[in-house]
Amino acid sequence: MTYDLILQGGRIIDGTGNPWYWGDLAIKDGKIAAIGTLDSSKADSVLDVKGLVVVPGFIDAHSHADRSTLYFREMKSLVMQGITTVVGGQCGGSPAPVDPSLREEMEARRAKVLPPEVDPSITWTTFDDYLRLEKESGLGTNVAHLVGHGTIRIASMGREARDPTPEELKRMRELTAEAMEAGAFGISTGLIYPPGIFAKTDEIVELAKVAARYGGVYDSHIRGEGKTLMESLEEAIAIGERAGIPVQISHHKAATKSIWGKSVESLRLLEEARERGVDVTVDQYPYRAGSTSLATCLPPWAHDGGIEKLLERLGDPDARARMRSDIEEGIPGWENFAGELGWENVMVSSVKSDENKPFEGKNLEEICEMRGDADAFATLFDLILEEEGSVSMIIFAMDEGDVRRIMGHPLQMVGTDSGASAADGFMRRGKPHPRGYGSYPKILGRYVRELGVLGLEEAVRKMTSFPAQRFGISDRGILRPGMWADVVVFDPKTVTDKATYQDPHQYPEGLEYVLVNGRIAVEKGKHTGTLAGGTLRRNQ
Ligand SMILES: [Zn+2]
Repeated sequence: MTYDLILQGGRIIDGTGNPWYWGDLAIKDGKIAAIGTLDSSKADSVLDVKGLVVVPGFIDAHSHADRSTLYFREMKSLVMQGITTVVGGQCGGSPAPVDPSLREEMEARRAKVLPPEVDPSITWTTFDDYLRLEKESGLGTNVAHLVGHGTIRIASMGREARDPTPEELKRMRELTAEAMEAGAFGISTGLIYPPGIFAKTDEIVELAKVAARYGGVYDSHIRGEGKTLMESLEEAIAIGERAGIPVQISHHKAATKSIWGKSVESLRLLEEARERGVDVTVDQYPYRAGSTSLATCLPPWAHDGGIEKLLERLGDPDARARMRSDIEEGIPGWENFAGELGWENVMVSSVKSDENKPFEGKNLEEICEMRGDADAFATLFDLILEEEGSVSMIIFAMDEGDVRRIMGHPLQMVGTDSGASAADGFMRRGKPHPRGYGSYPKILGRYVRELGVLGLEEAVRKMTSFPAQRFGISDRGILRPGMWADVVVFDPKTVTDKATYQDPHQYPEGLEYVLVNGRIAVEKGKHTGTLAGGTLRRNQ
């Protein structure tokens, strides 16, 4: 047989955590055809990979790239760091399902927040519709989708801060089942965001039970990662226990100074849950800062009814005074970013308007001074109002010791918590969190090579076979004949991230080749433009 491609002379790290071994790797029709000594085999092309390691393509356990797959198929910032599959639909939000009665309002919102080059039309309704549209042409990576609880809640009952009626809950169950039947890999929640923040535990258990029937996963951005970390983890574990479903804790962290060091206890809590038989695991990105919408700094009641209502409240002096006192004093159970972390740790990362561009990369204290605002509360409220909610932040909240402790734990796998960007063209926008460009190379360069927080084979396991097993992607994540040929070739002596908070749009170095379904997407460190990825459906 003549193979399509042979990678010759590399050290194979197969993704299971086993030590590397010498081997040539042959690819035929998008799959791994053989691994071994293939000197005498024929192939259409042969790549010399001597001095390099050959590993499975990285599976991003926590991605938001699903939101842009219909208009940014290249997914460059992800492919360039070795990601060949993303698990999207995280933090309670997926592009589908959409209730037709809300379509117009949602399109108007999209027109405000998407790049001007993108058509804001929503041409899908069901989860299956979206997957079909996505599959119409190629993608930079393979994409596995979770269905978002928040998305289902909005489609069933709008954006109100209340419990669902029995009929609405029934509708939510039906939409969950529909998404799972279409091939979703599970259900996600985002319990600090509206409308997830309005949902009680029982409601989530009901939907997790539906996902469990189909073999899905419950993936949660838990209710709090700061002062309420432990009780929030307990809630996620209880949902897993009650619904009989595996639990994935999203981007695990101890996210406020007063609980630094708490990862000792949080990891112990997870171990104890596993001893009781709850299959709980975590993902993590390798940075001390997180990132999300600036509006997350506002108390939950401010979000009741959706963004228009929120903007109205921001224009009302009485509501502003109440928001201010809630941030100053806190509300039990609410993760109060600005109040807990301080203005100097809240950095504006991306805005929409030209007027506010100078504030990208500055913290709220600095912006307050630049604008001559009365105080940082005024800065916070006015920025959200002026940007109509479309402003994101980077929050410096974690301790490096916790980051390393979680990273070194066997239950941790890697995810970026990022959408797709690009260093050129219309997807180069604002100053997004550098994790979107650098998570995987940063672990391989900084934490494996320089600091020895974990070994190379273990790091690769956390990037490949572990997320594959977690989400039930059985034909990827390990280098073995018969598996899809998602492959990364890099130099362990030079691999490094380049993206920084102030200058994030930079691709990493040291990654020589990235293959997606057997086709070369990155060659000698350069993106080829190949769109060999596609939509994955569970059990198909
Ligand atoms: Zn999240």
